[in-house]
Amino acid sequence: MAATPQNPAAATPRRKVSRHRGEGQWAAGHFTPLNGNEQFKKDDDGLNVRTRIETIYSKRGFDSIDPNDLRGRMRWWGLYTQRKPGIDGGKTAILEPEELDDKYFMLRVRIDGGRLTTRQLKVIGEISQEFARGSADITDRQNIQLHWIRIEDVPEIWNRLEAVGLSTTEACGDTPRVIIGSPVAGIAEDEIIDGSSAVEEIHRRFIGSKEFSNLPRKFKTAVSGSPLLDVAHEINDVAFVGVEHPEHGPGFDLWVGGGLSTNPKIGVRLGAWVPLEEVPDVWAGVIGIFRDYGYRRLRTRARLKFLVADWGPEKFRQVLQDEYLKRELTDGPAPAQPVERWRDHVGVHRQKDGRFYVGFAPRVGRVDGATLTKIAELAEAHGSGRVRTTVEQKMIVLDVEEAQVESLVEALESLDLTAKPSPFRRGTMACTGIEYCKLAIVETKQRGSSLIDELERRIPEFDEPITININGCPNACARIQVADIGLKGQLVLNDQGEQVEGYQVHLGGALGLEAGFGRKVRGLKVTADELPDYVERVLKRFQAEREDGER
Ligand code: SF4
Repeated sequence: MAATPQNPAAATPRRKVSRHRGEGQWAAGHFTPLNGNEQFKKDDDGLNVRTRIETIYSKRGFDSIDPNDLRGRMRWWGLYTQRKPGIDGGKTAILEPEELDDKYFMLRVRIDGGRLTTRQLKVIGEISQEFARGSADITDRQNIQLHWIRIEDVPEIWNRLEAVGLSTTEACGDTPRVIIGSPVAGIAEDEIIDGSSAVEEIHRRFIGSKEFSNLPRKFKTAVSGSPLLDVAHEINDVAFVGVEHPEHGPGFDLWVGGGLSTNPKIGVRLGAWVPLEEVPDVWAGVIGIFRDYGYRRLRTRARLKFLVADWGPEKFRQVLQDEYLKRELTDGPAPAQPVERWRDHVGVHRQKDGRFYVGFAPRVGRVDGATLTKIAELAEAHGSGRVRTTVEQKMIVLDVEEAQVESLVEALESLDLTAKPSPFRRGTMACTGIEYCKLAIVETKQRGSSLIDELERRIPEFDEPITININGCPNACARIQVADIGLKGQLVLNDQGEQVEGYQVHLGGALGLEAGFGRKVRGLKVTADELPDYVERVLKRFQAEREDGER
């Protein structure tokens, strides 16, 4: 039976309401909201705010927005207020939320599986130019984010997005966020299994449904049948990873409980093999466990990874089978280690149908509306009209005939979108940072872009895959813990003893081959000004002292 925030007990009818507060697990009968977020979700489902946006807020303007909608429920439709310009990082923690709020929004367009048609991409480009001052960032979860959105324009933006099959539904909030999928699903020569139909089915059945619109916190999903393991499955709440079962053939290995931010955890395997057609039901079982058993008392312990860590994989699988699926899962093998370090599909690659796909690298995911429109035009002129986004803030044009490849690569290059990037352009990612994010302490996008230029100039011969991930605060939006060089934004002291923008350094993290978290180098902080010198020193020393095969 489906839960609703108004009547969470519906999910677990056989249990009594507990008088003890515990961790706020619905399945244990703890239905009393134990924090402000749980209260506003109980007061009204986040999805219901859409009607108020359409009928009240967009007509009466920003000041008419209820604070619980403004800083809470509007996320259910992909809307966050952006940071008021000119407030420095030192004030982030000391100002009240309303002092940091600008009257403009970030709007996140969810792109499940990273799959876009050129028509859809053109619409995003038009919206960017017409309503978002030309802004557009490709995120590391395959979304596109726009900034400078006025509440008055939101209904018209939704009309245009929905007319081409896109949406912002549950793009943020305590919901099932965008479903990441292999950006080369269905086309890659080396694919184990195409998970696209499962991504579409999960979206069709469950996104925007009140069955899962009140979760303890966000819920991240990844599905990939690529042997490159190209969706960062290790750090998602649930992941389906392509494997070949010795008896049953291609299917998916089930992982749960990955996540970064506080207490980062690599997901764990449940040892279960899931055939393609059963992925949506198993997904619903896992998210059902999260909704019913997830911890709701403390926001910092409300991700699925904490429950998985407490239960362990055996108990988690048992509860999934006994209470949610009502059947046994089939045991299955683990995925093989990927053979390549780069998992971003950048460059020119042959498809299984003999045509080619061309992956290219914007700088740290930053593009703009006019560029998105030009990419769409190029994809139409050179391909069949299909485009993908990746979890490395990159893009791919599909279905290019061999004779057209060269001309597409040249045209992309003229837009500063190279298909032959340096390791620095290819491997550097940055989160939104202080330009728009209210939690940010330091700038990220500009700094990432200039770091790329500096490193290309200073170490032009560097040829090793490298990831440099830059965050504007202690959160993990740019995955700093799993980068070779992770940079966590904070204020640091310079030589004169003044507080300036800088970074805590994490070294040696990785996804894929030898996945693990980087080590925080005790006391190692660099100022933003010192950053190029510091990274150059690390990389040159690595070049000079590395052993055979060392990464
Ligand atoms: Fe904002 Fe921090 Fe996330 Fe960057 S890591 S987008 S600064 S919350």
